[in-house]
Amino acid sequence: MDFKGKTIVVTGSTRGIGREIAIQFAQAGGNVMVIGRDGERAAQVRDEIAAANGQADAFACDVTNAENVVEIVNKILDKHKGIDILVNNAGITKDNLLLRMSETDWDEVMTVNLKGVFHFSKVVSKAMLRAKKGKIINISSIIGIVGNAGQANYAASKAGIIGFTKSLAKEFASRGITANAVAPGYIETDMTAQLKTSAQEDLLKDIPLGKFGTANDVAGACLFLASELADYITGQTIVVDGGMAI
Ligand code: NDP
Repeated sequence: MDFKGKTIVVTGSTRGIGREIAIQFAQAGGNVMVIGRDGERAAQVRDEIAAANGQADAFACDVTNAENVVEIVNKILDKHKGIDILVNNAGITKDNLLLRMSETDWDEVMTVNLKGVFHFSKVVSKAMLRAKKGKIINISSIIGIVGNAGQANYAASKAGIIGFTKSLAKEFASRGITANAVAPGYIETDMTAQLKTSAQEDLLKDIPLGKFGTANDVAGACLFLASELADYITGQTIVVDGGMAI
């Protein structure tokens, strides 16, 4: 796949899955905008990409802050001629059983995971509509499809992303813009590192492919959806879970 000449925005690319997505787009020739709240980490990822002869810029941006999102997207648009690909990847968990879940934990997860996708999609799609082309890829989760005890807030946010993605697909189809979601299963990152070993062992039994996924597995699906190979695919959710939800 070749992304030469393409500008790609990846939210939450300072760590984990987003970082790997950013690196893979850069390896495929794309100019990647690394985004996270932690500006120093964003700069580190940018420098790593540059050291491997890739192209990247780094921006500190909180996806929950609409003004901050507008400011950063405008900076990107001032410097580059447009945004070709948007990957909404930033996400958090605040797990608890429903009866113990605080309103704050509900709101925080919904605000980062769902409202953040709304903010970035709204601002970036304006530029895509002007260009009459673009690819939007939203990172959902298998939990948004099957649910999970202790993750009602997270599951609701990730299911919300799937409905949001289908709506964008319908709204933008006639303007040359596709919108798809990727729903990873259990992927080894900081987010899942907190899980107890016993819980990890139980989970592994439910994965037909017999191993946890890596950020690399998720990045592969994103690059495919962003490529010309997927030009006729929109409104879909690609599950990357080793068969866990079959
Ligand atoms: P990590 O916790 O490793 O990384 C999360 C990323 O999101 C970081 O780069 C973080 O950057 C960024 N982020 C968090 N909050 C904000 C915010 N308010 N504004 C901007 N950036 C933010 O998570 P993963 O890599 O594991 O997860 C990435 C995505 O994949 C998430 O949407 C997650 O829900 C989803 N997913 C992950 C699975 C897994 O098993 N790991 C499974 C299914 C889905 P910073 O701290 O610099 O802001």
